Amino acid sequence: MIKYEQKALLNNPYLPLSCRIVASTVQTDDTMLFKVRFEDDRDVEAFDHKPGQFVQLSVMGTGECPISIASSPTRHGTIDLCIRKAGRVTEAFHNLGQNAVFGMRGPYGNGYPVEVMEGNNLLIVAGGLGMAPLRSLLWYALDHRHRFKDIILMYGTKNQHDFLFKGELLSLINRNDIKTLLAVAEDIDGSWTGEVGLVTDLFDHAELDAGNTFAAICGPPVMYKYVIEKLLEKGFSKGRILMSLERKMKCGIGKCVHCSVGFKYTCIDGPIFTYWDAINMREII
Ligand SMILES: Cc1cc2nc3c(=O)[nH]c(=O)nc-3n(C[C@H](O)[C@H](O)[C@H](O)COP(=O)(O)OP(=O)(O)OC[C@H]3O[C@@H](n4cnc5c(N)ncnc54)[C@H](O)[C@@H]3O)c2cc1C
Repeated sequence: MIKYEQKALLNNPYLPLSCRIVASTVQTDDTMLFKVRFEDDRDVEAFDHKPGQFVQLSVMGTGECPISIASSPTRHGTIDLCIRKAGRVTEAFHNLGQNAVFGMRGPYGNGYPVEVMEGNNLLIVAGGLGMAPLRSLLWYALDHRHRFKDIILMYGTKNQHDFLFKGELLSLINRNDIKTLLAVAEDIDGSWTGEVGLVTDLFDHAELDAGNTFAAICGPPVMYKYVIEKLLEKGFSKGRILMSLERKMKCGIGKCVHCSVGFKYTCIDGPIFTYWDAINMREII
């Protein structure tokens, strides 16, 4: 890892900056939320991001992987990363303790076009871990509440234990400036009093003004097909449907070609694409 002064001298975009884990909370069996902070205050000051962007996180001796920024740019100082144990790097990151040092570079990707979305209603549709990047957009909109009209959150998981950010969801349910709709595919212990079904079933509980709403979707690949069908049925135009698409990435800066789809690089042209963009690059979904 390099020091702030060395960064300008070396001018190497692959060099990560030194960060520390400030706090961590268990979300589900395999997923943790980490609050992290650059070691050098000047890096903290210099860092800015858009909702929907990601960082390349590195664990020394193990490797790098892309992780979405789960916190809003309106909450400066620390950065939230919600990480599911999926393989080598994410497992090693889970095993780092509080205060451990790791590397981070970024932010990368295009992020949500928030300037275009402002002044409209916002519909957020999340499935499982897809809530992580959408949480950044959600809190951006709530922290700039006056810039958006109606905000609706639809969030579906496999069962009630799989919800991320459970405490926050409870507080959102009690807010009257956002409509929060939750669904579980299976009520595994009879304790769930809400919707049992798929996230698409939640559309029955919301009035949507398609012409004045942007829909931001993130979840498992299978979810996109059915959510998009619903949105098109409700009259959404393809340009108002924003999808966050993941693809194996290496460099994050459009050099290595690992994440290319046709003429696009998902690391720099994405990970946020409109449905209009995505239908011209079918293999991406
Ligand atoms: C833009 C973007 C944002 C993301 N945001 C998040 C986020 O916020 N949170 C999060 O948890 N994840 C996120 N991911 C996903 C995360 O980057 C991947 O899960 C990443 O691969 C984890 O790295 P790893 O080294 O831990 O896993 P890897 O070791 O790369 O393994 C990942 C998966 O690939 C399989 N695999 C590995 N090698 C092979 C092989 N040779 N053949 C077959 N299968 C193999 C593993 O079994 C595992 O299922 C994001 C991905 C992208 C592209």
